[in-house]
Amino acid sequence: MPAPLTLETIRTAPKVLLHDHLDGGLRPATLVELAAANGYDGLPSSDPAELGRWFATAAYSGSLERYLETFTHTVGVMQDRESLIRVASECAQDLAADGVVYAEVRFAPELHVIAGLDLGEVVQAVLDGFAAGTRAAAAAGHRIRVRALVTAMRQAARSREIAELAVRFRDDGVAGFDIAGAEAGFPPTRHLDAFEYLRRENAHFTIHAGEGFGLPSIWEALQWCGADRLGHGVRIVDDISLAFDGSAHLGRLAEYVRDKRIPLEMAPTSNVQTGVAESIAKHPIGILKDLRFRVTVNTDNRLMSGCSMSSEMSGLVEAFDYGWADLQWFTVNAMKSAFLPFFDRLKLIEDVIKPGYAELMQ
Ligand SMILES: [Zn+2]
Repeated sequence: MPAPLTLETIRTAPKVLLHDHLDGGLRPATLVELAAANGYDGLPSSDPAELGRWFATAAYSGSLERYLETFTHTVGVMQDRESLIRVASECAQDLAADGVVYAEVRFAPELHVIAGLDLGEVVQAVLDGFAAGTRAAAAAGHRIRVRALVTAMRQAARSREIAELAVRFRDDGVAGFDIAGAEAGFPPTRHLDAFEYLRRENAHFTIHAGEGFGLPSIWEALQWCGADRLGHGVRIVDDISLAFDGSAHLGRLAEYVRDKRIPLEMAPTSNVQTGVAESIAKHPIGILKDLRFRVTVNTDNRLMSGCSMSSEMSGLVEAFDYGWADLQWFTVNAMKSAFLPFFDRLKLIEDVIKPGYAELMQ
């Protein structure tokens, strides 16, 4: 008998997370404590429960720009080495406790230099925090591997410097590079220099594209910049038309994305909050999965969305009636798409993911 699909059983299944923001995943209680310790007085509440609700409400505004504003507070308390270590360590522990076995967590070093840290010190603090969190998780019986993605902000002009950081720390736990921030008006081609540098260095990168903006953003990310993966990429559905008989016609860009197995880092709850999808049930992830795109499930911002990998998967099970085999498919997709050496990916799939789901499907 297969295990019933509940939030609790899904939590025990091995999961892989490729798109999670460090500054979007703080525990509300930690935010309150760090604000007090660091003299940050801008928090809307000093009660953790109330603060958690405030974030969720602010995040449900339906606009990506408004959504991004909530990060002022989290980034505000992450300006010194100790705070960065604590947040990164708790991140690794929280993911591990939720059954995540491999994660790439991203953060923008340039947002954490206000109190005097330099970019390299920010990266080192986060990596040290992941290492500490991984050890603590192992002591609690959860095995996880956490790697970092360094993010450059689209509206800023430091992408080349951040790309160089990704390469400098590539053997110390930085898996790759990303650009994030408001899409409209800030096309990824503004950062071509950084992407060309990364390609010359044989480095990996993903680009937030096709979230707040449509097909041109996805096209630029892939065909001008050379992204390995797409952050969200939800709007690729704009290049797909469905006939009354259920058959689908793919435009050339959608065909390309599917043919090349370009991973789509989708985060259903976050996409609903930013207005990219009307509801989980109407999220394009259902169609894209049916059409066998390389779809992955992600949290994006656990604090703002009040979610976890398990709750995202549970939401999809409810909306699309998915079974364990579907959840395994998402997980294997994500593992195949990780910025991790091939044999490491294979090992996690064969030794951890498949046996984990086999046990649940028995
Ligand atoms: Zn994101």
